[in-house]
Amino acid sequence: MKISRPIRARIDPAAIRHNYRIAKQYAPNSRAWAVIKANAYGHGQWRAVEALRGEADGFAMLESENAVALREAGVTQPILLLEGIFSARDVRAVVEHRLTTVIHCAEQLELLVRNATFSAPVAVCLKLNTGMNRLGFTAQTLPAALAVLRQLPVDITLMTHFAEADSERGVAWQMERFRAIAGDWEGPVCLGNSAAILRHPEAHGDWVRPGIMLYGASPFAGQSAEELGLQPVMALESALIGVQQLAAGERVGYGGTFTAERPMRIGVVACGYADGYPRHAPTGTPIAVLGRRTRTIGRVSMDMLACDITDIPEAGIGAPVTLWGDGLAGQVPADEVATAAGTISYELFCALAPRVPVSLGGASDVDVR
Ligand SMILES: *Cc1c(COP(=O)(O)O)cnc(C)c1O
Repeated sequence: MKISRPIRARIDPAAIRHNYRIAKQYAPNSRAWAVIKANAYGHGQWRAVEALRGEADGFAMLESENAVALREAGVTQPILLLEGIFSARDVRAVVEHRLTTVIHCAEQLELLVRNATFSAPVAVCLKLNTGMNRLGFTAQTLPAALAVLRQLPVDITLMTHFAEADSERGVAWQMERFRAIAGDWEGPVCLGNSAAILRHPEAHGDWVRPGIMLYGASPFAGQSAEELGLQPVMALESALIGVQQLAAGERVGYGGTFTAERPMRIGVVACGYADGYPRHAPTGTPIAVLGRRTRTIGRVSMDMLACDITDIPEAGIGAPVTLWGDGLAGQVPADEVATAAGTISYELFCALAPRVPVSLGGASDVDVR
């Protein structure tokens, strides 16, 4: 069913490919798991898989059911389960479909040992807790796990995850702990996320795990995606469906949180929090109308938000709007919208609502007549 309400998300598969190549340029000696968890950060798992099918060294995700679906769709590259196995069924899927699984605790190792047939070697990423303190073995628990695994036909990679690769503290402290826990380990290691790929070449390892950078956003507060050579992948676009002329003193939207200090023209956009636009985006969040950057006004409601078009007199009902991304109405980096709304682009992308129709292609692919 073609939806006539004007909101659309446009996903550019060529940009995903470009961004994956950038990850490989930054980490030329590593193989790269394309992280496609959370429905490829809201972009659509299959869109990301198709974009990278002939390109990615491997795919990383969470659910064994989704991993098996990739195998059944003919994906032959390694597939990594980032949180490992949750059930005996997952173990059978790992064996049968040659999935690579994280093992992050003794209970998970026991689940594997108890349920695997090991008809062929199983690829395991043994996760070390080096300071994130979510998942992973420690210096105390690793030796026992390794002793068990070394009795089995498994290919082991040691892995860890960085907590502060994007900020001042960096990765050196976790690298030090990694070396201390891993001891004389000489096998493969899997280390860097996007931030470490881009900023910490010493923390790449044999495998890296780019996520957010594939989707064209920056993992850093102070450095834009464009500066990093990344291309935006998702454009969220809509149009004006209402225009209001305000006298000084008029308020806008629920709660009347915005008051016009002078006469103003505002546009009402068919996009609200039920589309995935953050409700906590305040007045002043960047938005583009008819090729011009402007700001949102007042509270975001479920289906609509308002923007200032006082200085865009040509903008009337039907004028195109870019909420974020490289849209027909102009460019608005998702990172800037996220910062204004006190969050990160990861959350904006993941929150894209199912009711928003998605089309494929970049801004230049769209026929504007
Ligand atoms: C999500 C995730 C990544 C990707 O992180 P980005 O910051 O998006 O690059 C890498 N490794 C693990 C374990 C993850 O869960």
